[in-house]
Amino acid sequence: MSFIIENIASLKGRIRAAAEFSCRNPNEIKLLLATKTVSATNIITALKTGETLIGENKVQELKEKFEALKVMQHQTHFIGHLQTNKVKEVTKYADCIQSVDRLELAEKLQKRLEFEDRTIDVFIQVNTSYEASKFGVSPENALTFTQQVKQLDRLNIKGFMTIGLFSAETEKVRKCFQLLKKIQLEMLDKDIPVHELSMGMSGDLETAIEEGSTIIRVGTAIFGKRPYPDSYYWNDNKEANPQL
Ligand SMILES: *Cc1c(COP(=O)(O)O)cnc(C)c1O
Repeated sequence: MSFIIENIASLKGRIRAAAEFSCRNPNEIKLLLATKTVSATNIITALKTGETLIGENKVQELKEKFEALKVMQHQTHFIGHLQTNKVKEVTKYADCIQSVDRLELAEKLQKRLEFEDRTIDVFIQVNTSYEASKFGVSPENALTFTQQVKQLDRLNIKGFMTIGLFSAETEKVRKCFQLLKKIQLEMLDKDIPVHELSMGMSGDLETAIEEGSTIIRVGTAIFGKRPYPDSYYWNDNKEANPQL
């Protein structure tokens, strides 16, 4: 049996255990396969187990695997940093964009979708760890930004996405997820229907599930360790990221 199939089976066990621990129904937690650097063949192996959600970080990779993956029914979320000059392409290949983090990007998406006369699902990415190197709107600006995006009628806001602090100290990581949950509750209170929380990865999914995650994004625990170039996570370009 492929290591991928075995890994998905044991991951399902982790999801069930974490859900039970926090008295949640495991079926409320969706698994998104984080497939950056994974070959289309290996992605198909994973989709054949019945999974239907994948996440890619780079438009170039989305494009390269698009044709090969057509044989399997699935949905693709874009989870990486999105440059405004890639907007036109990303709407061709992705069903949802989880990394909306600045108005300029949201407005470019709106314009493109008006042109295509369609809508797309989006998540607002929040930088809950306050690390300067991470993307995402700051927690303080999340409400204002979400209200601005809500004015853009081609973007359906589904919820929030965050990458937790990279730390072995679980309680520090937990604070990130609790903060995202708090932001969600504030928005729900203002009648903004943000029901999804995309949080939790291979190393911290239990904590995320305990704090209310509805979508975990898992790569390493399924496909094994791949050497990710830093650019998949980090923003070291000061011009692109005024938070630095
Ligand atoms: C790679 C990636 C993941 C998955 O991380 P793993 O630690 O490999 O499970 C989740 N979210 C984003 C945004 C990623 O880039």
